[in-house]
Amino acid sequence: MDISISGGKIVENDGRAEEVINASGMLVMPGGVDIHSHIAGSEVNAGRLLRPEDHVRDVEVKTEITRSGVGYSIPSTFTTGYRYSRMGYTTVMNPSMAPLEARHTHEELNDIPMIDKATYPLLGDWWFVLEYLREGSIEECAAHVAWMLKATRGYAIKIVNPGGPECWGFGRNVKSLDDPVPHFNITPREIIRGLCKVNSLLDLPHTIHVHTNNLGKPGNYSTALETMSCVEDLSEEGRPAIHITHCQFCAFKGSNWRTMRSGAEEIARYVNSHNHVTLDMGQVVFTDTTTMTADGPFQYRLCGLTGNKWVNHDVETETCAGIVPFRYRRKSPVHATQWSIGLELALLVEDPWRIYLTTDHPNGAPFTKYPQVISWLMSRLARKRTLKRISKIARRRSLLPSIDREYDLYDITTATRSGPAKALGLGRKGHLGLGADADITIYSLNPEKVDPSKEYNTIRKAFSQATYTIKDGEIVVKDGEIVKPTQGRTFWVDTKLSSQTEPTKELRRKFSEYWTVDYENYPVSEDYLAESAAIYIEARI
Ligand SMILES: [Zn+2]
Repeated sequence: MDISISGGKIVENDGRAEEVINASGMLVMPGGVDIHSHIAGSEVNAGRLLRPEDHVRDVEVKTEITRSGVGYSIPSTFTTGYRYSRMGYTTVMNPSMAPLEARHTHEELNDIPMIDKATYPLLGDWWFVLEYLREGSIEECAAHVAWMLKATRGYAIKIVNPGGPECWGFGRNVKSLDDPVPHFNITPREIIRGLCKVNSLLDLPHTIHVHTNNLGKPGNYSTALETMSCVEDLSEEGRPAIHITHCQFCAFKGSNWRTMRSGAEEIARYVNSHNHVTLDMGQVVFTDTTTMTADGPFQYRLCGLTGNKWVNHDVETETCAGIVPFRYRRKSPVHATQWSIGLELALLVEDPWRIYLTTDHPNGAPFTKYPQVISWLMSRLARKRTLKRISKIARRRSLLPSIDREYDLYDITTATRSGPAKALGLGRKGHLGLGADADITIYSLNPEKVDPSKEYNTIRKAFSQATYTIKDGEIVVKDGEIVKPTQGRTFWVDTKLSSQTEPTKELRRKFSEYWTVDYENYPVSEDYLAESAAIYIEARI
């Protein structure tokens, strides 16, 4: 069919055209939408500083219209934008921002060209949030979160190891959903449920975005199951209540690393029978990369496991962060099992609208590995070929040999575009219908001639280099090269409440008591964003 573009949108075909692209015999998709990829902010930048060896081997040379850059697992800002755009991605969500570091995060997002973006403030260990939730003041908490989203120009509520980062301030961690956080007398379960209620009172476009407790520990699949079920009663008809991110990292069975096995079957069974949950994969690829998360205690354990260099950072009363370089090895039973789990989840969850392709960039692998992940999803043979080369123990434990399913190109479109766009409440993205943003990718791949199941290398190649990436109606990539640098917008949520929205005097007093930054200096003004795109929401309170 013909797709017409005018004014950056997909419009009705009126038979006239200034420019025509003949895409017959090619694959046409909406621009890629990434729901979870660490591309900007203080932890990403600290990762860049920590890893000169990551840059020296991977250099992006400047051209007449693009800037130079470096970085394999943590590319510099401009390079990040170019590489996403070359793969046909047009929207990327930065999933983790300490509110206090919002200014820095937006400075970097402003520097990332080619893509639309947004960022999620970390709110699960924020002192004010913990205090409100402990007192059961859900509406006050909601008003506060609305203010925070506006002040940090954020998009969604991010929760990382709820309660854990606060515990980590005392060298401890929470071990279960009912383990109280010291000095706050509140449990992870209460934090998750409280913020889930806040999310629905504010009617935010995305659900709460949750990195579960006990991430990266054998046996944690049961924590993931409990996390999903703890908000089951809070789900509203037809709408998910929770997004579990990089689910691979919380789908481990077993009681230690030697007995570690896949819990993908149990997780998938739960997701297949409950519609209040969405997931993203957090796929591991065998490569050198950099792990980074606000889950400070987890990164401390990882540093102990690998003996590698480590960054540990505490962000005042808000959250913390850790960074550790990491190499996933084929011959490691644990790493190879992790590789298997990510794919098992994506293949065992029946509905592609419920699980999205991510590598939790750069935690499981750099985002530039997506084409390889696509080839594994589409080809049993590609999986078999990799299975042959991994650790024997992991191969024996892998569920992959028993899974015949292969994604088709519709499934891939859903997992990399339509699904995440829907979960994010971005109605203008992820489809090619009338009124959608004219973000379109054309790949040199003839769906009628190529058999992805057998020709998985062709698939991988095609998805690595878009023949055309069209952003807001303009050709920005041609034959895998950037032909027009563009800025891209920053989405953020502006929530209107019927009741009080400004923090009270009491809150201002607490600000100066708790933080090194005064209340007045805390908010990031809208003109700080290179291209601000507010999403206006009417709250239910
Ligand atoms: Zn992440």
